[in-house]
Amino acid sequence: MFVFDTIKNLQQYLSSLQVEQLIGFVPTMGALHKGHLSLINQAQKENDIVVVSIFVNPTQFGNQEDLEKYPRTLKDDLNLLKSVNCNVVFTPSADEIYNHNISSETFNFDGLENQMEGKFRKGHFDGVGTIVKRFFEIANPTNAYFGEKDFQQLQIVKKLVEKNNLNVTIHGCEIYREKDGLAMSSRNSRLTEKYRAEVPFIYQTLIKVQSLFKSLTVKEINVWVQNEFDQNELLSLEYFQIADENSLRGIVEINSANKYRAFIAVFADNIRLIDNISLSKKK
Ligand code: AMP
Repeated sequence: MFVFDTIKNLQQYLSSLQVEQLIGFVPTMGALHKGHLSLINQAQKENDIVVVSIFVNPTQFGNQEDLEKYPRTLKDDLNLLKSVNCNVVFTPSADEIYNHNISSETFNFDGLENQMEGKFRKGHFDGVGTIVKRFFEIANPTNAYFGEKDFQQLQIVKKLVEKNNLNVTIHGCEIYREKDGLAMSSRNSRLTEKYRAEVPFIYQTLIKVQSLFKSLTVKEINVWVQNEFDQNELLSLEYFQIADENSLRGIVEINSANKYRAFIAVFADNIRLIDNISLSKKK
């Protein structure tokens, strides 16, 4: 497994590959778990070489404390990546990526950036757009893999590719969960035992929403979810929204031709967790 921390060395290696070799790219912020490994596994099936980046991108954090407390476990991450036969790991510093100017470009994602996470994390998607575009320019991958865990991010990356005519295919991968339903996340490692025991409540709520979606109105479901969290002493709801999968806009009425998802953001102590679930029938 090759580990590169400079753009020059990564590009030198990639340019030594044969032109027909397919490069799969999996961007991560490290503190790797089985959710990340499921993306890598899919990338390995569909490409000749898999490049995983580990980079805690400062421009997508609005909150300095969240950035500082983000778990960093590089040694364990590299061991894990080696054990799954990852080919290349890219671990640049912030200066290597931003050339001593840590700032974001401003993007227009046709309004996708103004919904949900965009409302509560100002500037977040400019940071995501900046780093993903930069990585695509650096590694020029054939395919890139993103989790549905961050569904809004996945749709935004697809829009970034479409609007900038980038030559990369974006693949969305299903949410990987703990046995109790909690969506795997690097942030879960920061939960105390008490909060860790409580957070499966988030997925349980989404599962109930999935069944209520057949009988209640969107407004009634919104009220029901708010009530559930009002009664929960440990978890506090930041937002819950049923949205159209493509526009990500909240809906009032259901149109059977469209696909919908329920999205949620919750604080467990000071740790912010997000999750989502499809409300459309599987074909
Ligand atoms: P992160 O390191 O949290 O930035 O995540 C890197 C990539 O892994 C993103 O595309 C995430 O959506 C994806 N990812 C994180 N957690 C999961 C999960 N539980 N299931 C599937 N994909 C995930």
